[in-house]
Amino acid sequence: ADLEVLDARIGHCRACPRLVTWREEVARTRRAAFRDQEYWGRPVPGFGPAGASIGVLGLAPAAHGGNRTGRVFTGDRSGDVLFAALHRAGLANQPTSVAEDDGLELRHTRIFAAVRCAPPENKPSPGERDACAPWLRREVELLRPTLRVVVALGAFAWAAWWPVPTSVYGRRPPVPRPAFGHGALAWIAEDVPVLLGSYHVSQQNTFTGRLTPTMLDEIFARAKEIAGL
Ligand code: SF4
Repeated sequence: ADLEVLDARIGHCRACPRLVTWREEVARTRRAAFRDQEYWGRPVPGFGPAGASIGVLGLAPAAHGGNRTGRVFTGDRSGDVLFAALHRAGLANQPTSVAEDDGLELRHTRIFAAVRCAPPENKPSPGERDACAPWLRREVELLRPTLRVVVALGAFAWAAWWPVPTSVYGRRPPVPRPAFGHGALAWIAEDVPVLLGSYHVSQQNTFTGRLTPTMLDEIFARAKEIAGL
């Protein structure tokens, strides 16, 4: 119930003027392929059960993905790759995620983004990342009793994590910060979730073969192992 309250509050945030304008403009003008669809056009909350032990931290919703469907990674190519991998890992009941009412359920896993509103060219500014950080902090606070590992999809998400160990757990991460990489692990303290780096599931990475399904399977196998699943 607490997560539902948080989700509802996030849905009304208007803290970043540039992103508010963009998310609403995209929803108004729509893409031809989705002309007949209602766009969400608002901040996109996290998705997955309370009591999750694995977190998946993305960058931001896609203009015609989460910003259209209202569910994170839902209805875009990145999500196709991510949910197929979660399904292979036994963390999702189906391999696709196309709409909010498609019956998708995650197991032990909650997906959330560093920035909750779709940014132009998928590029939020550091200021927008900082503005959105309190939502991430609050979400992790609510998951704290069970959360053991967070998979950071890409360098932006990896960087967005660093205020969390201090703000939620009162633990200072090392300086300099551990470097991002595919398979990189950052262990801060016993009670702080382990941060596990993965290349982002974006088309730039999956179409070029920089990130393969096998590489993603290895990440979720590792995450499950850390989470004790
Ligand atoms: Fe609010 Fe985050 Fe959206 Fe900015 S990006 S308007 S802080 S929900």
